[in-house]
Amino acid sequence: MLVSMPFSSPHYPNLALGLLKPLAEQAGAVCDVRYFSLDYLDALGADPYASLTEPSIYMAQAGEWVFAAAADSRLDPDSAGFFTDVLLRDHPDAYRPVLLLALIAARQGAADFIERCLDSVDWGRYALVGFTTSFQQTMASLALARGIKGRHPSITIVLGGANCQDAMGLELLAQYPFIDAVCLGEGEHAFAEIVRRTPADTALDGIPGVATRGQPAPAAADRTDVEVLPYPDFAAFFAQHAASPAAAAFPPAVVFETARGCWWGAKHHCTFCGLNGTSMAFRSKSQDRAYDELAYLVTRHGVADVANADNILDMAYFQKFLPRLAASPLNLLIYYEAKANLRPEQIDILARAGVRKIQAGIETLDTTLLKLMRKGSTGLQNVQTLKLAAEAGIYIEWLALCGFPGETAAEYDRIAAILPALRHRQPPAAFLRARADRFSPYFDRPAEFGVTLEPLPAYRHIYGGDADAQARLGYHFAMRSPALDEISTYTADTAREYVHWRDHQAVSALWFEQDTVHDRRWGWEAADEALAPAAAALLNMAWHIVPWVQVVHDLGEHHHALEQAAAELERRGWLLREGGQVLALPLRQPGFCAAPGITEIREAIGRPLTLAAE
Ligand code: SF4
Repeated sequence: MLVSMPFSSPHYPNLALGLLKPLAEQAGAVCDVRYFSLDYLDALGADPYASLTEPSIYMAQAGEWVFAAAADSRLDPDSAGFFTDVLLRDHPDAYRPVLLLALIAARQGAADFIERCLDSVDWGRYALVGFTTSFQQTMASLALARGIKGRHPSITIVLGGANCQDAMGLELLAQYPFIDAVCLGEGEHAFAEIVRRTPADTALDGIPGVATRGQPAPAAADRTDVEVLPYPDFAAFFAQHAASPAAAAFPPAVVFETARGCWWGAKHHCTFCGLNGTSMAFRSKSQDRAYDELAYLVTRHGVADVANADNILDMAYFQKFLPRLAASPLNLLIYYEAKANLRPEQIDILARAGVRKIQAGIETLDTTLLKLMRKGSTGLQNVQTLKLAAEAGIYIEWLALCGFPGETAAEYDRIAAILPALRHRQPPAAFLRARADRFSPYFDRPAEFGVTLEPLPAYRHIYGGDADAQARLGYHFAMRSPALDEISTYTADTAREYVHWRDHQAVSALWFEQDTVHDRRWGWEAADEALAPAAAALLNMAWHIVPWVQVVHDLGEHHHALEQAAAELERRGWLLREGGQVLALPLRQPGFCAAPGITEIREAIGRPLTLAAE
């Protein structure tokens, strides 16, 4: 049996379980998959479930806290220290009576829910139960694993997934005696071997990437060749989703993987990034295989919404896979992660292929901060991506970050100065402090960056054991330094501007049509202004980033006249200049006058709304 526990998304099946099921069957086992996450959704109801997974509370690790006491008898089930220590201190947005009451009710009901999970399955039919742990599923998985082991000591309990990588998995094994084995890295080879050994009751020792009790740390996991993986089997998710009354509020999508690792991180590991754990090496599927698999999945499950699981888009896919999708009759709405510095023609082909939602790794709009992060992009490129995506009808999902070792107030002053001009673009979901995630350069070499690390305070309320054990189990770490301790003073203006952007984007628009700029941005004087020829020519030429020397060369005007036009356009917030390059800010017509939301995008491409507003 393979199990997915709360709080995984009710929209999507779990990719790991979808892959491990056919691999277990190839290894000779009968394998069932159960999404107790959907049972939990029904038990709680759609609205309470959604409130417990909203971003402010999710970032606080509240989902782990809900099940912590049910998993670990060392914890006090009635402790409310999490509220003051974590929510009030670091997530004041989440410190609201309605959310606190929902959290208390969920925590009080966690043990009962686990009992119902135990009662709802004939566990005696299974020799092995495997849990996947990411998306705050660790404590719920531990709670159920503990119950299964208590009732059926002979069942082998295996954990795997993102929260089990490397030291975290070794510490889980050390802290929780009801676990028999943990997959510390990519699990496909390891899990198939575990399945082969289980019926014969053979010890699980010595499998690369699998930690077992009382044995030395294992050899590294065998790396998966994504090209030879089976197509994932998501039948259990879609059957359970269709039978779930509450899941109707979370229309389903398929998850689709084309690559693992990160080709950028393999060369220039972004300083804060802990994605990819111990397997940064980039591997992608052949483009024909990727297309065939995607067509199979959406046809089999009758959905047109697709969430891609990759950390970064393979740039070679612009040559064949994406053009083939653009020409196909599939008419999908795809979510992808990509690098932010996409070229105009790349954004165009993404939109035509149905990639209408991107997490673009923007992180900030300041080039100095981007250099500190080693992102390989500039602030102007990020602004261009926000603009061209809005024109193409692509929703950009991004977070604005601060708190990078080496930063100064000057970076945030520059950001605060340009944000008012961008209110018609897609704002960030939040403005947050960067963390040193496990496996990131900040985590691996804090002294090099002049910081010390502290595990998130939430871990004290989630894991039993001592502080060292909590640090080994944790994934997110706060960075401390005398300079960073002053962050709230030098980012205050920027934070305020991000809030203005978020609060007023819906009433802001800026577009350019037949040499006339129409300005409806909040905080700016409304205007419908016909431009003089030099200014109009400049805005037309700078629809994408263009070097200033090229503007001067191509427009053939006297340098002085163009400079005057550019200065006036900058003053009005219609042109941005950086490092000898310029970019026009109004959106071109015909098209959107402001960054569209996902609902407008669906309407524009003639697809019914099948996914809840993200
Ligand atoms: S942040 Fe993105 S681009 Fe950078 S290393 Fe991580 S996955 Fe790669």
